Amino acid sequence: MRRYAAVVLDADSTIAGIEGIDWLATRRGPEVRRAVESLTMRAMNGEVALEAVYGERLRVIGATANDVSALADAYRSAVAPGAADAIAALQAAGVVVHVVSGGLRPALLPMARSLGVADARVHAVEPVPDDDGVFRSAAPSPLITQLGKAEIVRALALPAPVLAVGDGATDLAMAPAVDAFAAYIGFVRRDAVVAGADFVFDSFASLVAHALSA
Ligand SMILES: [Mg+2]
Repeated sequence: MRRYAAVVLDADSTIAGIEGIDWLATRRGPEVRRAVESLTMRAMNGEVALEAVYGERLRVIGATANDVSALADAYRSAVAPGAADAIAALQAAGVVVHVVSGGLRPALLPMARSLGVADARVHAVEPVPDDDGVFRSAAPSPLITQLGKAEIVRALALPAPVLAVGDGATDLAMAPAVDAFAAYIGFVRRDAVVAGADFVFDSFASLVAHALSA
């Protein structure tokens, strides 16, 4: 028996145990890593808009197509234990599975495909190349804003009931737009997200046991 008709999954630190932007920054060395972390901190402090910080982080990192390809490999290598089986079981039970992420879509697609999630069900940020092919900006999207995931989920008009699952504050922001929100703490436990969650899963096995129980 399926308890939900649709499940929305976060990607970074949920399906896979990495944060894509941090991963790219680390690849640029400790200085870029520190700069990117500083930008994230300023956004958390309300000193700059998340939208501005998102673009600024991409500018600082200056990811190439090679970097994005390497990140795609990193995502695939970091898939959560049991995630593939869980997604297969959900889809076999007729549950519609979507990925809604603030990460870079080209880097996420190969992982999603390997998990049986069609490209059309992967909603993420499109990096835009400059004339030299370097990705220093992103296409406008609600997903580069703090509350944007709710906007995306509403626009999808998914079959109800809908369960959203993620580790972060931008995931918890989906709660008003779905029937239930679960904090995923398999990689990172954030107390504010856990506090706002209807359910807490420490593994994909527990997620699927809940979602497919009577
Ligand atoms: Mg996340």
